[in-house]
Amino acid sequence: MSLLEIKGLRVQYVTDDGVVKAVNGIDLKLEPGETLGLVGETGAGKTTTALATLGMIQCPPGEIVEGEVLFEEKDLLKASKKDMRQIRGRKIAMIFQDPMTALNPLETVGDQIAEGIKEHLKCTLREAHIEALKALERVGIPAERASDYPHQFSGGMKQRVVIAIALACNPTLLLADEPTTALDVTIQAQVLELISNLQAELNTAMILITHDLGVVSDTCDKVAIMYAGQIIETGKWKDIYLKPSHPYTQGLFGSIPTLDKDVERLQPIEGLMPDPTNLPEGCAFHPRCPNCMEQCKHVEPQTKEISEGHFVRCLLFG
Ligand code: SF4
Repeated sequence: MSLLEIKGLRVQYVTDDGVVKAVNGIDLKLEPGETLGLVGETGAGKTTTALATLGMIQCPPGEIVEGEVLFEEKDLLKASKKDMRQIRGRKIAMIFQDPMTALNPLETVGDQIAEGIKEHLKCTLREAHIEALKALERVGIPAERASDYPHQFSGGMKQRVVIAIALACNPTLLLADEPTTALDVTIQAQVLELISNLQAELNTAMILITHDLGVVSDTCDKVAIMYAGQIIETGKWKDIYLKPSHPYTQGLFGSIPTLDKDVERLQPIEGLMPDPTNLPEGCAFHPRCPNCMEQCKHVEPQTKEISEGHFVRCLLFG
């Protein structure tokens, strides 16, 4: 039994400018303790996928058109608000991109960590505070700083507090949405290593949302590449790294510098992500694809397994 299985998920936002088709029929599977990197450009639908999993799509303007999000075999899209309140933070936790806005500036960090523990573990406030001190120490912050406020911490330390809150109730699934993007480059690696170590220690599965393939290589077992609300290639990290097969994935690898290849110029992917209110007919990548064929302009590709566990959505593969 998979821990998480997303089937045919479609999410859209109805706006004055049109219907934004944010997620267009994605399928994903995650096993207990596994790490999946969800990679794509801004607007690919990564965060919407995570928010739908947590039941946090605001309706209106958001709308889940169809699909299932099976977590421990229960469809979260059909769960009651009360059930979701118990799952969110307890079984599934999320680390947001910007720790500055994720924390309440008016409460001490100790109180903010204890709040979730008290709510979910049904313990006394005193017991929750004792657990909060342990959670702080687990992320490398001395317990005596529990009475400090967020503004007294640096950006990296704030993100450590956010991680402490997310992992305080020992969730089985962690959704980490670009957890290092808002941090200085010098501390990004430290924070990623901390998340990976704690995840391994607690056997928590993780979906790591990122636009950075370098981050995925250090952290993930599997990777799913998203483009225009679809997963266009997925498989074990090693398979995708050694044999990127979708032209978009090849473009992503071609646009990052490496030390082992001597190239004169990097090859960026030409063009921009399509307007989600007006997606191209056929393959959504066709206006940017260097391998585009006539049929790509009219026929929507289906997902094909090209080797065990390695799936590609492209007409080059039949
Ligand atoms: Fe390129 Fe066609 Fe494959 Fe789309 S289906 S990625 S346009 S080759």
